[in-house]
Amino acid sequence: VRRRVLSTDELVDGVRAGDRTILSRAITLVESRNPKHFEQAQAVLARLMPHTGGSQRIGITGVPGVGKSTFIEAFGKNLTGAGKKVAVLAVDPTSARSGGSILGDKTRMNELSIDPNAYIRPSPSSGYLGGVNRMTRETILLCEAAGFDVVLVETVGAGQSETMVAQMTDFFLVLMLPGAGDELQGIKKGVLEIADLIAVNKSDADPAKAREAKREYSSALRILQPTSKHWRPQSVMVSALINDGLDTIWDLINQHRAVMEKEGEFTAKRARQQRDWMWTMLRDRLLETFTHRDDVASRLSALEADVLSGTTNPTAAVEELLGLIKTTGQA
Ligand code: GDP
Repeated sequence: VRRRVLSTDELVDGVRAGDRTILSRAITLVESRNPKHFEQAQAVLARLMPHTGGSQRIGITGVPGVGKSTFIEAFGKNLTGAGKKVAVLAVDPTSARSGGSILGDKTRMNELSIDPNAYIRPSPSSGYLGGVNRMTRETILLCEAAGFDVVLVETVGAGQSETMVAQMTDFFLVLMLPGAGDELQGIKKGVLEIADLIAVNKSDADPAKAREAKREYSSALRILQPTSKHWRPQSVMVSALINDGLDTIWDLINQHRAVMEKEGEFTAKRARQQRDWMWTMLRDRLLETFTHRDDVASRLSALEADVLSGTTNPTAAVEELLGLIKTTGQA
């Protein structure tokens, strides 16, 4: 069924009214790679900007199976139960390829997905990190304009996307499994460095093991540079399954927020997020514009195939492609 195209006014008003169907349409627009959609998306965002910034932006990560969906379901229900409006976004630039558990899958968050005060949006399937980065930032803004008080951004424990999510949120929560001994070795130091809090999940299953893990993460965190000089990341034990310790996490998130605001770090971080968004958008648009030029597009896949087969090297391929702008002088 072809849907009627919504005007910019309709999109702006619908998002402001908290109409989730229109919010979804606005997000789809932001995720579109069609240049016409891009312009309208930016016009909508520009009009909505004065109504953004009002949420608590919380990043959540952890390896598949750690209990992210279970956690978000319980944590989200706690928040809506307390009268908050909660949006859940997923960031998984690799989902198309890995075929693993789908983040933001509504069937894995049964109760939250039918909660009138919650909104769940799966990861954009753009496939490349830069595009997903921009789209997610813009989706956070749209959710804020629609009146959501808390935006949870879920991502898998896989390097780059974690750093990206940490950079676009106010608080970064890392879920871990008990069994720290083995776990800690496999975990890249990087994720501990960006964590504002580590929660050892599934502590109901084996409390002794969970306590041990909590101790190990606490000492690992102590030797790392803290995320802020006003915040010392700690580790806690929780059980998403039986909703145990989740209220403590919410308290810590609010303590963190209060300290950051008091020290002026909150405003500074939000300002940096705006600057990062500018660069993300610039990179994304440059790449998009460049790869959609007829001369570039017509050579791109052949050169990519040549690099794959080894008949040409990446440097030569890039030189040839960039040479196309140099010779014509247009961007
Ligand atoms: P995700 O892949 O990180 O989203 O993990 P899921 O939320 O799908 O959870 C993976 C499995 O762990 C499921 O079978 C959950 O029921 C289970 N699980 C999640 N949290 C807990 C918990 O706190 N305790 C126990 N015992 N099991 C849990």
